[in-house]
Amino acid sequence: MTQYRCQRCKETVLPTDMKIVPGIKCPKCGNRILFKERPPVVRKVKAR
Ligand SMILES: [Zn+2]
Repeated sequence: MTQYRCQRCKETVLPTDMKIVPGIKCPKCGNRILFKERPPVVRKVKAR
């Protein structure tokens, strides 16, 4: 699931929270600038 992070208050915004507010907007402070944030994925990289 894709998460968003508010640029101003650094609050994590879930897509379910954005459904409440029309458009992409931070439900806490009303900031419209959100960063897309992916959940941390552990990847094994072959290093040699
Ligand atoms: Zn915010």
